[in-house]
Amino acid sequence: MDAQTAVKPRVAVHKFSSCDGCQLALLNLGEDLLALAARVELVHFAEAGPLDPDTEVDIAFVEGSVSTPEDLERIQQVRRHSRMLIAIGACATSGGIQALRNGADGAEWVARIYSHPEAISSLAHSTPIASHVKVDFELWGCPVSGPQMLAVVNALLLGVTPRANADKVCTECKRQGYPCVMVSRGVACMGPVTRAGCGALCPGLGRDCYGCYGPAENANTDALATQFDHLGLEPQAIVHRFQSINSQAPVFLAAADKARMGCDE
Ligand code: SF4
Ligand code: SF4
Ligand code: SF4
Repeated sequence: MDAQTAVKPRVAVHKFSSCDGCQLALLNLGEDLLALAARVELVHFAEAGPLDPDTEVDIAFVEGSVSTPEDLERIQQVRRHSRMLIAIGACATSGGIQALRNGADGAEWVARIYSHPEAISSLAHSTPIASHVKVDFELWGCPVSGPQMLAVVNALLLGVTPRANADKVCTECKRQGYPCVMVSRGVACMGPVTRAGCGALCPGLGRDCYGCYGPAENANTDALATQFDHLGLEPQAIVHRFQSINSQAPVFLAAADKARMGCDE
C-alpha cells in the first residue's frame, strides 16, 4: 500500500474541565499542524472544527481534569474508544489550578460566588485523568508546548515510544545561558524542582519559574524549601510556592504539607 492509499491514524482531541489553552498550543503550531493533518485523520477536535466525540481513534489527546459528574462518565467512554490515550497539560496530569479546591470546602466557595449555586454541578475534587483510567503518556505544562505534542505524535507515527523529559528547568536555563534569578537577585525560583520542556521561558524573561510543568524526576523539594527559607520566605509563602497550578502532584503536595507544619510552629 503506498502513502496515498495507506490508512491514516485517527486522532481525537478531547476537552474535559479546562481553559482550552492546551488545545490552543496545538492550534498555534500553524504550518506544522497542517503538515500533521496531512499525515493523520483528525476526527474530533472541537477547537479546530471536526466533531465526532464518540468515534474510535488510534490516539486521543485529553485536556482537562475530571471535575464534574459528566467528566467522570465521559472519560471511561473516551478510554474505551482510544488505543493510546495521552493526557496533556497540568489539568489532565495533576488536576490543575481547579484542584486548589481539593483542600477547601468547594460547595461553600460555589455558594459564595454564584447567585444560583444549584446550577453548578461539580465534584468535590478535581482529579487528573490517570486517577480514573489508564494513561499511556503524560505531557505536563500549563499550557503544554505545541512542539512537544508534535514530537509525541511523530514518535507514535514512527512506532517509537515517546520519551518523557523529566529533567529540571535549571538544566534548560543553564544551557540557554540565562542569569539565575535566585543567585543574582534572591528571587525564589521553582526551577530546581520543576520538569523541563518550556525552554526556561520565565527565567529567560528575567522572572522566576512558578512550577507550571510539574515536578521533575528526583525533585529535592526539601533542599529548595530550605533555600526559600534562607531567602526570607515565610512558611506560608513556601506553601504557596508548592500549592499552585500543580498543587495535587504528589511531590508538590507533600512539600506543601511539610512547609505547612512550619506555619503552626
Ligand atoms: S493546563 Fe493550563 S492551559 Fe492547559 S487547559 Fe489546563 S489551565 Fe488551560
Ligand atoms: S533562574 Fe531558576 S531555573 Fe534558572 S538556574 Fe536559577 S533556579 Fe534554576
Ligand atoms: S519557567 Fe516554569 S513557570 Fe515558566 S513556563 Fe517554564 S515551567 Fe512554566
